[in-house]
Amino acid sequence: MALIVQKFGGSSVADVACMQRVACRIRDAKQAGNQLVVVVSAMGDTTDDLIALAKQINPRPADREMDMLMSTGEVISSSILTMALHALGEEAVSLTGPQAGIYTDEIHTKAKIRDIRPDLIRHHLDRGCVVIVAGFQGLTPAGEIATLGRGGSDTTAVALAAAIQADRCQIFTDVDGVYTTDPRMVKEARKLDVIAYDEMLELASLGAKVLQSRSVEFAKKYNVELEVLSSFTGNPGTVVTGEVKEMEDIFVRGVAADINQAKVTLQAVPDQPGIAARIFKQLAAEAINVDMIVQNVSEQGSTDLSFTVPEDDLVRVRGCVDKLCIDVGARGATYDDKIAKVSIVGVGMRSHSGIAFKMFDALAQNDINIEMISTSEIKISVVIERSRALDAVRILHESFELQGAPA
Ligand code: ASP
Ligand code: MG
Repeated sequence: MALIVQKFGGSSVADVACMQRVACRIRDAKQAGNQLVVVVSAMGDTTDDLIALAKQINPRPADREMDMLMSTGEVISSSILTMALHALGEEAVSLTGPQAGIYTDEIHTKAKIRDIRPDLIRHHLDRGCVVIVAGFQGLTPAGEIATLGRGGSDTTAVALAAAIQADRCQIFTDVDGVYTTDPRMVKEARKLDVIAYDEMLELASLGAKVLQSRSVEFAKKYNVELEVLSSFTGNPGTVVTGEVKEMEDIFVRGVAADINQAKVTLQAVPDQPGIAARIFKQLAAEAINVDMIVQNVSEQGSTDLSFTVPEDDLVRVRGCVDKLCIDVGARGATYDDKIAKVSIVGVGMRSHSGIAFKMFDALAQNDINIEMISTSEIKISVVIERSRALDAVRILHESFELQGAPA
């Protein structure tokens, strides 16, 4: 008998028919002799709808009240799914996050899980019940309800799997796994059988929105092997797991594009100690998330400094940077919201050379100009003109033979 955590996302429980399909899947897994803890998201777009409702009443709703409101979406799903199982003659019980023993910090709307005390879950499992837990929520030290940030039900599932030492953690969603690149962009994209935690983290932060990043961090920390799979088909999915030696044979696991960034350049910034610190201190104080940073070689005591920020923040960034230019004595600033960041990711890069050359060469041969470059051990990112992003992804996907390689 295996102990399995299954998580079903919003699109998998969007309506009555979906709920019934999920209930049948759970029943089958139970009847195959397994113990099941199931984590559910809110039905369909419920969370978005609740946020929109709140904003109609008050443009700046209090975070505590947002948590009271948003947490209801998952509570509805958990009780409805439990009723669907009862209708199939299965023993099941629904629990809210707090009832399931999920304890968080006090940061409303983006709380982190601090502790799990799964006594009640164990009690119901021991009496043969399927336990359905409302995802995305927990209890703060002050006894308040808090939610875990958008997509947080993934993290609930992984954290529960770690806490109850589940044999498996399956994340059911509306795609059938993790792909070499976005299959909507490149039809040759191939589903991966396996991907390392670190690769998944890079791809998640690059905009491959299959799993909440924090859930992958959690899985890595507690060594929970995840399987991402479709709730609509019976196909095997993608296993997200710790690195094994063979993974290094694949240099590039995937290609990702982020088209929601903008580039800021401060021109002729005085080249003195402390200037960069002043600039980025101010941006941090405004809670602006800076991604790539490039500083040029200085000429005659001044240098250009470029960085990228989320495009949505550009208005705030402009206000802040225009002031900074005067403060630090820079000549001025330019803003470019027509850029894209394209990246290749693979743990195999650690042990192989020539990957950067191959990437830059493929882009050059197709006349794509590179404006910025940044690298980590397992990732190379370039900033290019946004209109060439799709071309770049296709070219790199092909150059690194991602459509044909074994997973
Ligand atoms: N319902 C929440 C959201 O839409 C949490 C989740 O789906 O994981 O972000
Ligand atoms: Mg959702």
